[in-house]
Amino acid sequence: MLAREGKMALTAVWKRDSSGGSAHADWHRLVALVAPHRKILVAGFVSLIIGTGMTLVYPRLVGLLLDTVIAGKDLAGLNRVILVLLGVFAVQSVFNFARAYLFTKVGERVVTDLRQRLYEALSIQDIAFFDARRTGELISRLASDTAVLQNTVTANVSMLMRFGLQAVGGVAILIYTSPRLTAVMMAVVPVVVLAAVLYGRRVRKLSKDVQDALATSSEIAEETLSNIRTVRSFVRESWEQQRYREATEDAYEKALKRTRTTAMFGAVVMYASSAAVALVLWYGGRMVVSGELSAGLLTSFVLYTLMVAISLGTLTSLQADFMKALGASERVFDLIDRRPGVTNPPDPVVPRDALGDVTFADVTFAYPTRAEETVLDRVSFTLLRGEVVALVGPSGAGKSTVASLIPRFYDPQEGAVFFDGRDLRTLDVAWLRQQVGAVAQEPVLFAGTIAENIAYGRLHARREEIENAARAANAHAFVSGFPDGYETLVGERGIRLSGGQKQRIAIARALLKDPKVLILDEATSALDSESEYLVQEALERLMHGRTTLIIAHRLSTVRAANRVVVLDRGRVVQEGTHQELLARPGLYQRLVERQFDAENSLAGDTALPSG
Ligand code: ATP
Repeated sequence: MLAREGKMALTAVWKRDSSGGSAHADWHRLVALVAPHRKILVAGFVSLIIGTGMTLVYPRLVGLLLDTVIAGKDLAGLNRVILVLLGVFAVQSVFNFARAYLFTKVGERVVTDLRQRLYEALSIQDIAFFDARRTGELISRLASDTAVLQNTVTANVSMLMRFGLQAVGGVAILIYTSPRLTAVMMAVVPVVVLAAVLYGRRVRKLSKDVQDALATSSEIAEETLSNIRTVRSFVRESWEQQRYREATEDAYEKALKRTRTTAMFGAVVMYASSAAVALVLWYGGRMVVSGELSAGLLTSFVLYTLMVAISLGTLTSLQADFMKALGASERVFDLIDRRPGVTNPPDPVVPRDALGDVTFADVTFAYPTRAEETVLDRVSFTLLRGEVVALVGPSGAGKSTVASLIPRFYDPQEGAVFFDGRDLRTLDVAWLRQQVGAVAQEPVLFAGTIAENIAYGRLHARREEIENAARAANAHAFVSGFPDGYETLVGERGIRLSGGQKQRIAIARALLKDPKVLILDEATSALDSESEYLVQEALERLMHGRTTLIIAHRLSTVRAANRVVVLDRGRVVQEGTHQELLARPGLYQRLVERQFDAENSLAGDTALPSG
């Protein structure tokens, strides 16, 4: 239930975001993307004109063949005309190739640029942006919306040009040959145009329905496959299979509906073209009988009519694709244009060195996705350079939120956070984040080697530095134990590391980054004592000489900390050393009392009861 509501809210956010921007502006921008490639496009146009010119020549040659060569039984003339015809076809093929290649080349380039720009735009968005969206949806923007555009700006534009020119040229030749016969033929045009308009409108809606149904089924697949352990442990496979089956059947029904419409339209256009040919044969036949038109000219007239009909049919079916592309480009440009909520100030300060003092001054904060719920309420406290401060409090008190304000993942609504006395909003964001390191409860490792994962903390670190960091993090021994050592692959397709091993890799990564301020999110689940000891020792080396904020869950941690800040429902309720706080009645005492109970029963497990 909750998940569904969340999804609806997300869709609403998405819709709100993508409703802006006019269709006109988007075409304009697609054209702007193409502009740098105008030289290639000009070459494409020249090829287009020559290729289409050749296509337009040959029905006339066929007419000529019938009228002069065959009627006059001129065999030498026949050979000549056939040779010319072969030549025309050859030139036509070469230039059709050049046209298709050149237009597609520009199209591919444009879409590649667009993909890169979209990814760049996504990667700089604020964290709140990602809170409001599903990763799967963003990936699909990147993959499927740009793929729709790819088809349009490559094959479709090329086809539009070719068939557009062919239709216009064909009609011009028809009028030149016989205006009267052309007028007769044109009688079917209103039918085709009407059909095209109706079809276009309907297929646009149907296409959207199909896309949405497909997206829903992918969502089910993505969600369940990536959480397969949960599915398995609740034995929900067949239930999920049923859900997926229903979603794909729905997509199938909708696709069938669209196909019926498309096939129907094809049949109508086909019938209209055939009717046009029949009309031309009927009226033209009478003209041939009365001597107003030669048989050869009638033949070429029929061929031109077919050519125009095919061109118009293709053009009308292209319109659905263009509509789809327009929708996709709107969404892509909306994302590209989105300005992140957290940005670098106009004149970012890059201090020469960092000391590591952090101050929260009357910070009030609510997550942008849940603006009505105040998560932090006038929070004030200070971390002095080199100090270790433990942050404790019940689950949901706002501990992680405090931690995420320090690297400026979000900006507070009221009050301010200061680093070395400077408001974070005045500092260069990249510089600030360089000064803040974090080791999470369950650190995320990227798919890649262990060495690459450690070097994420400093991109161009030498092997020696990586190994030193691993040594200090107590990771060297177990890494060397793997057959591939530092080249061992981890992540989805690599080996699985234990929780303690992952943490030590994350510590090595943080050591390489060498930040002034550290944020540690202590694991709630206890590791075995050997692993615990190794992690603890590594952490102590990491904390040395840095300001550290620990989201603490263990009694040993709060005891060792210089100070403890107690958070409850978004407020700082107590602050002091462990000893001081223990002596005063209050939340801290209660938290610790419960802790001692737990310790008595669990003999040595030292987890504080909180998040
Ligand atoms: P725990 O110890 O259980 O991890 P915590 O003290 O770290 O809890 P926070 O994670 O800071 O608490 O959460 C504080 C409140 O903010 C909670 O009510 C939570 O639901 C909400 N919250 C946390 N993250 C987000 C988010 N990204 N978007 C919206 N609300 C959030």
